[in-house]
Amino acid sequence: MLSSSFATTDSLNNCGLFDRNISVHVLRLDSYCPVGFSSATGNKYFKLKENIAYAKRNGFQRILSFGGAYSNHIHALALAGSDFEIPTIGIIRGEESFRVNPTLQDAKVAGMHLEFVDRTEYRKRNDSGYLENLQARYPDAYIIPEGGSNNLAVEGCKEILDHARHSIGNSFDHIFVPCGTGATIAGIVASSRKNQNVYGVSVLKNAHYLNEEVVQFLAQESVIENTNWDILHDYHFGGYAKVTDQLKNFVEEFSSKSNIAIEPIYTGKMFYAIFDLIEKQVIPSGASILAIHTGGLQGLRGLHQRQVTTGTDTA
Ligand SMILES: *Cc1c(COP(=O)(O)O)cnc(C)c1O
Repeated sequence: MLSSSFATTDSLNNCGLFDRNISVHVLRLDSYCPVGFSSATGNKYFKLKENIAYAKRNGFQRILSFGGAYSNHIHALALAGSDFEIPTIGIIRGEESFRVNPTLQDAKVAGMHLEFVDRTEYRKRNDSGYLENLQARYPDAYIIPEGGSNNLAVEGCKEILDHARHSIGNSFDHIFVPCGTGATIAGIVASSRKNQNVYGVSVLKNAHYLNEEVVQFLAQESVIENTNWDILHDYHFGGYAKVTDQLKNFVEEFSSKSNIAIEPIYTGKMFYAIFDLIEKQVIPSGASILAIHTGGLQGLRGLHQRQVTTGTDTA
């Protein structure tokens, strides 16, 4: 499934967002629609591509995965399943009433079979006994963890930096990406150069375990020597899918000045972190930043709904 097209890279340098001697390029995975796909699915395409290839190669008849009612991963999986003609099953945390939300509506239209489970059952999604039962119920299904995050996802994410190199070469020295499970940043670190610093902006509160997760993902890739990365834990704005007025205002101003649509769950927190670190001069003058726009805009449609519901998720 290697594509012959590339994602575009936009420069933010002339939109009046900052005046320091720092260049910022945005890798637009949000608008990247790979060959064979009917729509752009951000970083989730890279996380899914090797998984889908694996399922097809090994004769699985369908793909099963897990997610919240607004999940970007569930949305992307459903669409990819339709594009590649492999049926999909989504185990969704929450009630049937979510069925009317735009994310799940799209998933259903794309042919995904949805199964709703309560929080107690959803919590078991990584337990081996639970997974064995699911596999027994769906013997022909390839099961992918929540968020699509496994080592095949990391493998697929190693392609991301190629898209930036294709348009701007290797001149960037600071790379930023929003971080949920750590699989995407692991792929980026694995394909980065040692003189490039990679920063994952955690969108979850107190998610210090992420550092260890990334180490584990990297170890599976036999990458142990790369220490050119860090997870930033101070830009979660209260936790997963939590949005403050400050963040909301930032997202609005950024979107209107740059003409690049972002959302507050993932990319908003990343761009906020970048601006804050430039402002505080933590990022030195002369730096060249690559910001990875991972998409997630489909989830915006359910944002209002999400804010009045508690603790739902888009991972
Ligand atoms: C899922 C997602 C992420 C996080 O990716 P991880 O591999 O889980 O760290 C970042 N941005 C967007 C828009 C996402 O949907």
